[in-house]
Amino acid sequence: MSRRGGGIHFPFGAPASAFAEAPALPPSSKRRARPARLHRRLDTLPGVGPVRAKRLAGLGLESIEDLLLYTPSRHEAPARLATVASLRDGEEATLRVIVQSFSVRSAQRRGLTVLEALIGDQTASVPAVWYNQAYLADVFAGKPEILVRGALRRSRGGYSFLVSSHEIIREDGREEGLHTVGLIPVYPATGDVSVRSLRSLLGAVRSEAEHVVDPLPARLVSERGYPSRREALLSAHFPRSLAEAAKSRERLAYEELLFLQVALLRHRRHEEAERPALPLPPAEQLASTFIERLPFSPTRAQRRVMAEIDGDLQSSTPMRRLLQGDVGSGKTIVAAYSLLRAVEAGGQGVVMVPTEVLADQHADRLGRQLARLGVETLLLKGSQSARDRRDALKRISSGDPLVAVGTQALIQEGVDLSSVRVVVIDEQHRFGVRQRMALVTPPAGRPWPHTLHMTATPIPRTLGLTLYGDLDVSVIDELPPGRKPVDTRVVELEHRGRMWDFVREKVDQGRQAYVVCPLVEESESLQAASAITTFKELSRADLRGLRLALIHGQMKSDRKHEIMRAFERGEYDVLVTTTVIEVGIDVPNATVMVIEDARRFGLSQLHQLRGRIARGAEAGHCLVGAEGCDEESRARLELFCRTTDGFELAEADLRARGEGQVFGERQSGWSDLKVARLLRDQRLLMSAREEARTMLAADPELQDPRHTLLGEAAEDRFGAATHWLDHA
Ligand code: ADP
Ligand code: MG
Repeated sequence: MSRRGGGIHFPFGAPASAFAEAPALPPSSKRRARPARLHRRLDTLPGVGPVRAKRLAGLGLESIEDLLLYTPSRHEAPARLATVASLRDGEEATLRVIVQSFSVRSAQRRGLTVLEALIGDQTASVPAVWYNQAYLADVFAGKPEILVRGALRRSRGGYSFLVSSHEIIREDGREEGLHTVGLIPVYPATGDVSVRSLRSLLGAVRSEAEHVVDPLPARLVSERGYPSRREALLSAHFPRSLAEAAKSRERLAYEELLFLQVALLRHRRHEEAERPALPLPPAEQLASTFIERLPFSPTRAQRRVMAEIDGDLQSSTPMRRLLQGDVGSGKTIVAAYSLLRAVEAGGQGVVMVPTEVLADQHADRLGRQLARLGVETLLLKGSQSARDRRDALKRISSGDPLVAVGTQALIQEGVDLSSVRVVVIDEQHRFGVRQRMALVTPPAGRPWPHTLHMTATPIPRTLGLTLYGDLDVSVIDELPPGRKPVDTRVVELEHRGRMWDFVREKVDQGRQAYVVCPLVEESESLQAASAITTFKELSRADLRGLRLALIHGQMKSDRKHEIMRAFERGEYDVLVTTTVIEVGIDVPNATVMVIEDARRFGLSQLHQLRGRIARGAEAGHCLVGAEGCDEESRARLELFCRTTDGFELAEADLRARGEGQVFGERQSGWSDLKVARLLRDQRLLMSAREEARTMLAADPELQDPRHTLLGEAAEDRFGAATHWLDHA
């Protein structure tokens, strides 16, 4: 919308779909576009000093392009441009008026200042009210002309105009209408950077959009009915209609996803051409004997996944497979099978897990199973004695065939992973990208290992595909036979007595129980303290006489291991615990779980916890404490009771908590995206992926002049990120 020249244009009658019409731009300049201008830092703008620049950087805004790509979360609908005399009671309107007089007073409520001004145009005057904006007094002293947006309200003293936003009309007309006229952009702001200042900055850099060049091939732009990049960058902020804003945002999200996909796929091609993996020979005795000797037969889904893995292992393209299977679906035997395939081939298999408690469990059980097959198993964890560690390291660097189980200790210096053929990362969502990369990247000159990433976090499939770069995805979509669903109930404060009676009853029947203590503000020591208190109280009162054990993160590793083993052997009835047991732990006889203060946990986390008691043929019971719940958290807990479908819970979690929260920023790589959003843009993502595949199949190096700009843009945006993205 041109706001240049004389008066203001109020674009209320603009056509809804304006792309075919004259573009919503300042008149195109004859000057040559200079795309580098968009990379200028924000502190080169007038009014942006080091402090402001730092605050903006906190929002991820460093360059002019960043700012242009900071799309609004919504637009406020336009208000009628009215004269004072025509104001109607309660209606939102914008006025162009002069400040005639004003006063500032403090209201009865402490801390509130009220600025009251008489404003008017040629038709009439009306008192207007601002709250807590006494600083305006300085400006108002000059009786400026202003634009105000708000509504007429009737109060005790008659009518007054309640102001929602305003702006001072400057001599130079630079910001005219930015905050009050037409569709007003509203940005995700923080305490440090106000929506208003974002809007002003965007108003100020609008003209820079003329330096934008469009990296998308013209064919694609027209096929998808998109505006040019330049138009999109402007209309996403200052559109003439909501439809225009939506289309512009979509185009920016699509191009971003396309850049990502192109960068990802190209990078993967190069890498595979340079350093192939060692193909493994077909499955032999060892792996198949392992399967035969299991006390159960694998489910169809487990067999299918193992066959998929066999297929991958025979190729010189390194396996990059994500194995997704709900808690208790039996991913561990698939992992063991894959590790044995490496051992059969004369190499080593390594499995990394996120907690020491889980490392101990895997090392115990796999160790026992594999020993029967004559295969050596090692444990590597942070809390080991120096001697144990030295011994383990020596065995690993010998290159002899074996299986190593470990925590992050596996990726510390001095661990020689050069004979590793198969890497399994269990509960992979718990690791950062860097940790996963460190484990799978071979030393120079060595082939890539084959990698299996396992997770129960049920990332909806389409998201998983891209979130994990170009990983192949296998799903175990079937639970072992005979599993009974867990019965989940919210327990009100007044029924807690009955809840403990129920736990006793189950213990009398020979079952075991977990009591999970509340999350405490991310602090492990506070959490441990709360677990200790709970343990003491339960031992003294509600669960007196039962055999209680306590386990928390601050305990010595050996002690934790001892207690877990004793609990597994049935030497304790009740395990009072923190979230150290959240992932992986498998004690089939434990069928009851009490989760205290459940509202503090995310749905996916609750689902993981509940997974601990859905592992045998006996029905599980999960009792969640509703103390302190507000309406929203109660609704979440009720959903948790209603469904055991991990997918549904993960989606609800995503909606409620946002993407960064659920996937973890660093982990997902999604923090690199400025416009596109995981949930909202699933469909766009899939089409961007398709487009990238087709384009690269036809033009692998993107040498076609119609593709070169796209290739450069993709490299610019995501080139640096791809070294981990495709392994993420
Ligand atoms: P997760 O997928 O959560 O890692 P686990 O691998 O720990 O699940 O398996 C959960 C439990 O189910 C274990 O006790 C395991 O022995 C058992 N299990 C796995 N596969 C089967 C099967 N095909 N039939 C019966 N029980 C199985
Ligand atoms: Mg597991």
